[in-house]
Amino acid sequence: MSDGVVSSSALNSPLPRWIFLQLLEHCNLRCHMCYEWGDSGAYREKTSLKKLDLDVIKAIIKECEPVRPYYELFGGEPLMYPHIEEVLFAIQRAGSRVHLPTNGTLLEQMAEMLVATEPDKLWVSLDGPPEINNRQRGEGVFEKAVKGMDKVHALRSKKGSPYPHIGVGLCVTPTNHLHIEDLFFEALDLGKLDCISLELQSYMTQDNHRSYEKVLQQEFGVLTAPLAKGFVANPEQFADMDFRRIAQQIAKLSEHCHRAGIYLNTYPKDPSEENIRKYFSADWFSMSRVKKRCSFPWVSTEINARGDVTSCHAFYDLTLGNVYQSSIGEIWRGEKYVKYRNHLRKKLFPICQACCLFYNEKPPEGAREAVQYVSIGEGQAGHNLVS
Ligand code: SF4
Ligand code: SF4
Repeated sequence: MSDGVVSSSALNSPLPRWIFLQLLEHCNLRCHMCYEWGDSGAYREKTSLKKLDLDVIKAIIKECEPVRPYYELFGGEPLMYPHIEEVLFAIQRAGSRVHLPTNGTLLEQMAEMLVATEPDKLWVSLDGPPEINNRQRGEGVFEKAVKGMDKVHALRSKKGSPYPHIGVGLCVTPTNHLHIEDLFFEALDLGKLDCISLELQSYMTQDNHRSYEKVLQQEFGVLTAPLAKGFVANPEQFADMDFRRIAQQIAKLSEHCHRAGIYLNTYPKDPSEENIRKYFSADWFSMSRVKKRCSFPWVSTEINARGDVTSCHAFYDLTLGNVYQSSIGEIWRGEKYVKYRNHLRKKLFPICQACCLFYNEKPPEGAREAVQYVSIGEGQAGHNLVS
């Protein structure tokens, strides 16, 4: 297996092995950089907000039970979903595991429930030390998130359980790139973290977006891609970043994590100065350890709060079905999905560089392995999951 080709058993799976569920579109924050709720976020225009129906979620969990997929829940803020406890228990009863990104503001009040339902991992999104984080996310958000993590940590220790694992996800942007060390070595207690994910801000160029629209029109009859447009950025806006400093900070953190047994995930996988420079200069194809093919559409699927199904996270411009009209299995095996996969057999999309999965040099064989490679995050231009 190389260049993103997964084993034939995973490719032939009759059901997805890895399911991303957007529980709801609501969020209690308005982070400036969020592609949903931020200053230029797409959700600000919505006249009504949706939540995925609990019965529909239960039907998906039941139907997919035979392949025991991994679940990733996201939002908006997933802890605002009114039936979150039922969903977590249903997933647990079905023998599956689940990850949950969150902005951390509701962690304290939901800590008991989370320790009782034992999701595999909580990923708390933080943008830097308090001043930087709160500038992006709102006054007091950092402090609330830390209080919440502390409470979950204390309750889980009392119970004698390692779950939920507690992780922090940071998206590296021009605003916070000099503060990675400050966050992890000064503002947080690393002794309470099980995992860390560092992801460089996702973006695509105007040209990438234009080419993507062309592919959608020619191959799939979809005329525009307004949602993908939220990722468009000019690489010049990254030109003043100190790439060496980013690499140094990641190296220091990596060394610590290695010693302390903390799982560290980075995107790209090789966070060298050179690779980071190439990434932020849109020179993606000369980076080391990026892939030429992608097999995630054979493994994973994503269902948003309106029931629309897509294969590539955050790129909802091309939907492959809706779970209010057909079962997830029917959609997964349906004509549209097949056509989509056939396209990917030949080549990647022009926007794949803006997808965190592009940087998984060795994609997973199935859900159990898949989670090792998944990125977490949220609706900021750069994070691919939303809390
Ligand atoms: S980044 Fe997350 S927490 Fe912030 S507004 Fe977006 S969805 Fe809400
Ligand atoms: S956007 Fe591209 S890299 Fe990402 S999952 Fe889809 S095909 Fe794979």
